[in-house]
Amino acid sequence: MKQKFDTMVIHGGYDSKEHLGSLTTPLYQTSTFTFDSAELGELRFAGEEDGFIYSRLGNPTVKVLEERIAQLEGGEAGLAFSSGMAAVSAILVALTKMNDHIICSQGIYGCTFGLLSLMKEKYNIQTDFSEMRSEKEIRSLIKPETACIYMETPINPTMRLIDLELVARVAKEHNIPVIVDNTFSSPYLQQPLKHGCDLVIHSATKYIGGHGDVVAGLVVGKKDFLSQVAITTQKDIGGILSPFDAWLLLRGLKTLSVRLDRHSSNANKIVERLKNHPNVANVYYPGDAEHEDYYITKKQMRQGGGLISFEIKGNKKDAQKVLNALQFVKIAVSLGDAETLIQHPASMTHAVVPEQARHKMGITDSLLRLSVGLEDWEDIWDDIEKALNIL
Ligand SMILES: *Cc1c(COP(=O)(O)O)cnc(C)c1O
Repeated sequence: MKQKFDTMVIHGGYDSKEHLGSLTTPLYQTSTFTFDSAELGELRFAGEEDGFIYSRLGNPTVKVLEERIAQLEGGEAGLAFSSGMAAVSAILVALTKMNDHIICSQGIYGCTFGLLSLMKEKYNIQTDFSEMRSEKEIRSLIKPETACIYMETPINPTMRLIDLELVARVAKEHNIPVIVDNTFSSPYLQQPLKHGCDLVIHSATKYIGGHGDVVAGLVVGKKDFLSQVAITTQKDIGGILSPFDAWLLLRGLKTLSVRLDRHSSNANKIVERLKNHPNVANVYYPGDAEHEDYYITKKQMRQGGGLISFEIKGNKKDAQKVLNALQFVKIAVSLGDAETLIQHPASMTHAVVPEQARHKMGITDSLLRLSVGLEDWEDIWDDIEKALNIL
């Protein structure tokens, strides 16, 4: 019988019988692998015998992680990278050539925006940003040279959502691959491949690791395509994951479901209080029944997750004042950790996005992004409430 999600996060891709009975995945902290003979070395390089060669081309600890994430996303294969951006760049470079065209969600991780700008400058790869609200809107942007559709949902940091099935449906008509950055949800909350998308990317630095001690990226998709990526933009650019970081991610993954349940229930309680605070202008949370995209949440997300964005009544200086008044909630970018983190996107994660584009994405100077941690929610709220009260 196919295992259920909460079992796969713990056992997926690992067979202790293949590893001397070791309960946990062994850490193969090695750069290279020895061949028993010159002929066997030749066979391995020719791909005629299974086995490891050199850790940039594959490592047993990393391989368990790749198989586990593939199972969790319901895909054929997985690939691990040294960061979320190593994963994003390996996939986008693999899918595009000079003068191609990309359709991208309006609102996106700051460095992904930076990479798309670089690809435009160097290779004339143009990107059209779209809210992807209707089939008509997406269809109108498709050109013969459209190489892929790239999106985030929920969108960082505005928490707007995109209907995965709607985008996948239009893309299928034109045979264009759809890539989803699923970092904010993790496979526990959302599985884009099940809605017809083709590739899922994670910054595993966030919920997958979950403990703020690793920078890593993961990709899940079709086996043929990812095998091609493995021997080109992964192997030759070289942004591979280290065995130790893979080991930490395997450890973090075991508690993914229980962590996300707590992140979500804490966030729900904080959202209710934020909405009733007099110094808060707007609250954006996918699990909020009043969120304008809540109908999409219901279609494709299990719960709202741990991320909340909100606008305070005030300007950038006021937003900074609130951050500075916090006692144990930490001012930091990143998200998905046990610790509650808060940041100011306009001057931090999205400072690289030109002001005009930032405003188009809905990132105002009074917007704060909160990654609700696993602490007692009353302590989290107490800290935030006191900070908001100084305005
Ligand atoms: C953090 C993040 C990335 C980049 O991942 P790194 O691991 O920092 O390279 C990409 N997309 C989203 C949505 C992120 O939050």
